[in-house]
Amino acid sequence: MKFSKKVSAVILAAGDGIRFGENKIFVNIDSTPLIVKTLRPFIACQMIDEIVICVKREDKKKVEELFSCEKKAIQVVEGGNSRHQSSFIGINSTDSDYVLIHDGARCNVSVLLIERIIEALDSSSGVIPTVPLTDSVIENKGNGIKYLNRDDINRIQTPQGFPRQKLIEVYSELMIKQQCDIEKYTDNGSVWATAYQLKLVDGDNGNIKVTYPEDIKHSQNIRVGNGYDLHRLVGGRSLVLGGIEIPHDKGLLGHSDADCVLHALMDALLSSVSLPDIGNQFPDTDPSFKDINSTILLEKTMKLLEQKQAKPISVSLTILAEKPKLSPFVPRMKEKISKLLGLGSEKIGITATTTEGIGTIGREEGIACYASALIECFDS
Ligand code: MG
Repeated sequence: MKFSKKVSAVILAAGDGIRFGENKIFVNIDSTPLIVKTLRPFIACQMIDEIVICVKREDKKKVEELFSCEKKAIQVVEGGNSRHQSSFIGINSTDSDYVLIHDGARCNVSVLLIERIIEALDSSSGVIPTVPLTDSVIENKGNGIKYLNRDDINRIQTPQGFPRQKLIEVYSELMIKQQCDIEKYTDNGSVWATAYQLKLVDGDNGNIKVTYPEDIKHSQNIRVGNGYDLHRLVGGRSLVLGGIEIPHDKGLLGHSDADCVLHALMDALLSSVSLPDIGNQFPDTDPSFKDINSTILLEKTMKLLEQKQAKPISVSLTILAEKPKLSPFVPRMKEKISKLLGLGSEKIGITATTTEGIGTIGREEGIACYASALIECFDS
């Protein structure tokens, strides 16, 4: 969905990460640096026109390299010494109508939440996402404790959205009036609320801020999918498995090239994100798929996954074939699948086995494949 006004996202990633113990923006989560995970939903969201990332001076070049191939406009700027200084620098680096300010360490934000914030924006309100408290809370000022009613208290998250020009004015005013005291404001919403109304929208409990090393394990959105396929072996057809042609006196029969390895793999990928299977995606009644190379279908499947904001972490395949002996071809299959999935070949497991002469496979009537896929989603 496109928004009629220009919207920028400012990502605050210039903090010291003292509580985390190291520079967390480059910490890998499933082989992906945290800052890349944080940006992905903003890159995927069509309502966001540009992204500004505020980083420490020493991180600027490395962050620029991480996003050098992105099509969306991404600026990396040197942040300030505090959250508010970085916010002000980031906001001033854009020329949009609205600005969304987001913690660089909230790497599980969803496109849906980003859209919810943008849809709630108007010229006079700032928008912040909140979630209810589940723990009890007390006030402890040193002169005895007082239980507070948690129903009256919400936790505040980011992204927080504002009309850009008005937010600059509020910041400028506060900076003149209060100078160093501005740091008492804990987030951009608290700054905005000194002059204008705040609108609250529902946040997302999965949208946590990675603060301590143990938070990493809560920030993964992992799914699994399984697939299976079996095709009949017949004379007069080429044998194609795992995207490569294998010398044999028989091949697999099917509407496409009948590559049961890629077919099982596609079903595993589709299943992991709850999409209909390949029979529905690429029906054998459609003449355009007649004798089609299944690598093309896998490319289409990867596009479907991309639309669901998902990507594979690893896949595992078990091929059942009495003949030919497949182990010499496994490295080439891995190489092919590695390119198609954009995964290192060490993330692709392929086992080739016989069924000891038993059953359909054992009688060389067909070849089958089981596939499992582990997927990371960044949409929810
Ligand atoms: Mg098939």
